[in-house]
Amino acid sequence: MGTFETATARRSILKGLGALAVGASLPMPARAQQFLADPGVELHPQTHNPGKGAWADLARELKGNVVLPDDPFFGDYSRPNNLRYATRPAGIARCIRAEDVSACLKWAKKTNTPFAVRSGGHNYAGFSTTHGLLIDMSPMAGITKLDEQRVEIRGGTINSLVYKALERMGRTVTHGRCDGVGAAGFLLGGGIGFNMRLYGIGSDLMRGTELVLADGERVSASADSHKELLWACQGGGGGNFGINTSFTVETYPVSTVTVFEITWTRDLERVLHGLLHQLQTAPNGFGSKISVTVPSREDRRLGKGLSVSILGQAHAGTPPLADLFGPWLWEQAEKRSIHADMPYWQAQDILSEETFPYYYREQSTFLNTGDLTETVVANLIASGKAMPGTSMASAFKFFQVGGAVNKVGRKDTAFVHRGYDWLFSSEVNWWALKDSPTLVTENLAWQDKFYAGVRALTTGGGAYQNFPDASLKDWKAAYYAENYPDLQKVKEAVDPTSLFRFAQAITPR
Ligand SMILES: Cc1cc2nc3c(=O)[nH]c(=O)nc-3n(C[C@H](O)[C@H](O)[C@H](O)COP(=O)(O)OP(=O)(O)OC[C@H]3O[C@@H](n4cnc5c(N)ncnc54)[C@H](O)[C@@H]3O)c2cc1C
Repeated sequence: MGTFETATARRSILKGLGALAVGASLPMPARAQQFLADPGVELHPQTHNPGKGAWADLARELKGNVVLPDDPFFGDYSRPNNLRYATRPAGIARCIRAEDVSACLKWAKKTNTPFAVRSGGHNYAGFSTTHGLLIDMSPMAGITKLDEQRVEIRGGTINSLVYKALERMGRTVTHGRCDGVGAAGFLLGGGIGFNMRLYGIGSDLMRGTELVLADGERVSASADSHKELLWACQGGGGGNFGINTSFTVETYPVSTVTVFEITWTRDLERVLHGLLHQLQTAPNGFGSKISVTVPSREDRRLGKGLSVSILGQAHAGTPPLADLFGPWLWEQAEKRSIHADMPYWQAQDILSEETFPYYYREQSTFLNTGDLTETVVANLIASGKAMPGTSMASAFKFFQVGGAVNKVGRKDTAFVHRGYDWLFSSEVNWWALKDSPTLVTENLAWQDKFYAGVRALTTGGGAYQNFPDASLKDWKAAYYAENYPDLQKVKEAVDPTSLFRFAQAITPR
């Protein structure tokens, strides 16, 4: 066990933040523009616009369409979920078939225009934003049933469509809760959800994928052909190896689940420690996320304190929740909302959510229950209380991993984070119209110190590549650890000149 510091960090200037003026951006208050990027984010340089003629050439090549800034919906198409990275592209290609994707890559090379690929636009760190060509995969959406077990998900499909299609088939996968997240980003970076302890993470269920590579070639990666490429796509992170136009994914029959949300407002140290330790032995049909919520500054001024809550689902056959939580936690709860034995997809209607765009930073690491002693947990809560706060609530969370996630070896797929009990993640949220740059800076400085303390609890806990943090310096080791050299080999084979690049992109050896 390492040490955990509780001191409030209130540095007034976060070094480097705001140094990146990234040029044209969506309308927002001037001061918000200072918070577009973290230090180290190598945003695409503002480029020459290739010109109307070039955009017209691209449009002629596509079955989809090209959208330019004078389009009434340009702002909607180009806005990412994290407004820190609301960089305005020069143009958007809305692709509807693999040939469109090839045409975009050829055009980008010919006109020397930088590009980024986007499906759901929910990348935390701006890796699907660019000043050049935004290759928008979202029109390339849909799901086909291949056989009783497997489905094909097209490259631009977002979660809500996956849910709808699987519901009709009476099947499920490991999936998240946010309707607008893209299946591509989710699957390529791992993919956690309440089913992961039962079936593995999303990318463990990937049986094949089709891509358009840097040279415009279309390939199918599976256990039988290009298997290293399939391995790399199972957690190697979106945007690294090519543009994935479809995924073949293993599915499971649905059953009934009990959905629960339980909140505690007193004795938080004992509650959090109790939950983390008590639930470690829960069966794999039990999926949960524990959140410690820090209310907004205004709510705290009005007397609202921190709270601990747990949200999750228990598949049929899981012991009664009261037994799993034990009498003390069960009785101590301020509020219990239980929806017992619901049909699976009806239950997901309760759990799913959409998060509209705002400003945030997320920092994550993987932990074991043994790291979370009474002292450590008390220090976590004390740190949460010392957070300066913004006009929005923030939180730190523990996603329960283990079970089937740990049955796969660290090198079996590119997703290296095996053998842990919890994925810890701290989120700081703000709204630039209300929160001053100084206040945001104070909060990010608090978060840096808090995160450093948590990461010191574990050796090799790394960070989740699907919660990318642009300020993370050791990202190669943190996201990929011993798998990084093999990922580099795959990169060298499929994209030796790094046509696909962003701030934390895998590079050839
Ligand atoms: C509100 C919210 C909720 C979330 N919930 C969960 C959750 O429950 N579980 C979980 O695991 N994660 C969750 N995430 C994280 C999410 O899985 C990742 O951010 C994911 O990468 C987003 O995928 P996207 O397609 O929406 O994002 P995008 O920003 O479109 O893409 C993400 C990355 O993949 C690349 N990419 C996109 N499409 C393709 C493609 N077709 N081929 C190749 N590369 C591509 C992009 O260039 C970018 O680098 C959540 C994120 C948010 C903001």
